[in-house]
Amino acid sequence: MRITLAGTSSGMAVANRAPSALFVEINQDAFLIDAGDGTARQLVRLGLDYKRIRAIIITHTHADHAAGLIGMLQLMHLSGREEPVQIFVPDVVRDRMNDLLPLYHIFSEKWPFKIDFFEIKNMTEKTVSTLTFKPILNSHLAKNEKFALKHQVGTESFSLIFREAGHQDCLYTSDINDFSHLENATENVQILISECTHIDVEQGIRFAECKGISRVLFTHIPPDVDENINAIKRRFTDPSIRFASDGETIEIV
Ligand SMILES: [Zn+2]
Ligand SMILES: [Zn+2]
Repeated sequence: MRITLAGTSSGMAVANRAPSALFVEINQDAFLIDAGDGTARQLVRLGLDYKRIRAIIITHTHADHAAGLIGMLQLMHLSGREEPVQIFVPDVVRDRMNDLLPLYHIFSEKWPFKIDFFEIKNMTEKTVSTLTFKPILNSHLAKNEKFALKHQVGTESFSLIFREAGHQDCLYTSDINDFSHLENATENVQILISECTHIDVEQGIRFAECKGISRVLFTHIPPDVDENINAIKRRFTDPSIRFASDGETIEIV
């Protein structure tokens, strides 16, 4: 399994990083985890073969994780796609997405490929082709509950365990408040891909150490961390701790 960090910024737009997107390749299949704004262009820029994408998984609907979805569908359309695509989204969002697509003139009656939305809230573990993944609910959006209720959207936000069949797990935190929801999720995790906007780098490293996770790759890097990245790297010289740049690729064997 090869994972390319196609976008490594936080929610703040910056010149040197694109918003969150993980491009996962397993043999001939590809999968996209999160699609922050501009992901379509970012995949093209990095030369990643988006035509092989079988499924897209959205961890939560903040724009830096989800606003690139429509652009991805347009790119797939304009490049002649005919194969269906499965899109996994948080609960409640599914029906709203079906309402949203016609606003962008994506009409199911004439679109050249089928777009299937699935809710991931109650999904325990799911396999699509060569990828198995398991969403783990976190509290990143819980603070918006009052407003979400009023506007009939959910507050579900997920971290994600994923793997190639028969191999070790990768744990992608996406956006979180802390690591408490991941206490029992790390048994077979080989690498932690952790955000470092809502939690400290130290917290991520401590969690990985405590759980015996051998590699840590930080992403979702906010400007204040980026400004001090060389000083931070000097503090954590262990080669198993890395800070991702756009286009960085890791292999999980
Ligand atoms: Zn984010
Ligand atoms: Zn977020």
